[in-house]
Amino acid sequence: MASTKFTRRQVLSATSAGALVTMAGWPFTSFSMSSKLKDSLAISGGTPVRTAPWPSWPVWNEEAESKIVEMYRTGNWYRNTGKYCDEFETVYAKLIGTKHCLATASGTTALTIALHASGVDAGDEVIVSPFTFIATYNAVFLAKALPVFVDTNPETCLIDPGKITEKITDRTTAILPVHIYGLPCEMDPINEVAKQHNLKVIEDACQAWSGKYRGKNTGNLGDLGCFSFQNSKHLPSGEGGAVVGNDDAVMDLCRSFHDCGRHYGSITSESRYPVRGANFRMQHVQALILMSQLKRFESDARTREANAAYLNEKLNEIPGILPIKLVGGAEKSAYHLYPFRYKKDQFNMKPRDTFIKALRAEGIPCSTGYGPQNKDGLIEEALNSRGYQRLFGKKRLDEWREKNVLPGNDQLSEETVIFYQSMLLGSKNDMDDIVSAVTKIYENKDQLN
Ligand SMILES: *Cc1c(COP(=O)(O)O)cnc(C)c1O
Repeated sequence: MASTKFTRRQVLSATSAGALVTMAGWPFTSFSMSSKLKDSLAISGGTPVRTAPWPSWPVWNEEAESKIVEMYRTGNWYRNTGKYCDEFETVYAKLIGTKHCLATASGTTALTIALHASGVDAGDEVIVSPFTFIATYNAVFLAKALPVFVDTNPETCLIDPGKITEKITDRTTAILPVHIYGLPCEMDPINEVAKQHNLKVIEDACQAWSGKYRGKNTGNLGDLGCFSFQNSKHLPSGEGGAVVGNDDAVMDLCRSFHDCGRHYGSITSESRYPVRGANFRMQHVQALILMSQLKRFESDARTREANAAYLNEKLNEIPGILPIKLVGGAEKSAYHLYPFRYKKDQFNMKPRDTFIKALRAEGIPCSTGYGPQNKDGLIEEALNSRGYQRLFGKKRLDEWREKNVLPGNDQLSEETVIFYQSMLLGSKNDMDDIVSAVTKIYENKDQLN
């Protein structure tokens, strides 16, 4: 390291003088100092790197229109009288590589169905990643179970498999790993812990339609996989979701439960409604939109992968900007959102929000990642409810609070910055604008305030 020759202050001043490339052993030797970027930041009145708009999302496919009108004219609007939901299920199961797919009303209902069919009951505990959208653990609360958060690894954004066992109790029934941003979780050790303790594994793949781990698609790596097709997702239909799996009986129960408990497959009795259930059915209009959206899905995925790989390489050269690492065995991320970490010690200790404001001013939309969800207000609202007090008792809930300390996740929540997935559908020049803007802010960090 340069520290043998330079103090940190000397390194920083050498950096701003453009002498970086001459420093032997410095880890960022390929970081280029382009003089055109020696400029006023847009946030302090300078010219923004970019003013052009970014690709918008979702993108309508007119091919869906005639089929949607035809479907409405037939009067077969209801899932159990028409054919399009069935057709979508066949296509989607094939895409993910599972034996079965059940189309649902949303990702949240997919999770609710999967938890129920996995035997998660009132008073149970479910191991879950805290770096996620609230829907993940809201589904656990809807099952009247307790989400037990396990720390994440800041380098990967994902649940740390080595920290799961210490959180397992006599009430734990399932592990709910989240492939957040499309990044595949380290599934082998997760499945191993589950096997040892006889737990079910439900993947929250609501952001991971085309992630790959050891040759298999995300969603096909545990017992059941859950997807969302909400408007912002890569395969959008306004609202929608799916549960995928390979076990006939469990998938029969999923289908029956999602359809008011109607008999289905192995779920039979004298009654037309052998089991409890709800109405979590998809509508045919959603299935038709999804099938039209599938036509662009693969080529969009390739574009995002190429652009994300380019950003990983270029952003990695900028001090204080850390792209996210894939876990061992992960072959590709679905890149729903592009996350990276911002290290303020390389930016004159300026907080992340200042960096975000400066980047937005340069014409690059960006945002913070998830917050420390394990401390979200809705959790105390649930724990303090009459039902949770009765199901878990004060002592267990107090212990839960004591153990709900996740330093890795706190750090990750403080440092993450994200770009929207639609930006990754832009051109290489668009990616260069991102790199130029971040570089410009780094080089002119003295202007941040
Ligand atoms: C979108 C999402 C959900 C919920 O999906 P909806 O379709 O909005 O109900 C659940 N988990 C994660 C990680 C998500 O991103």
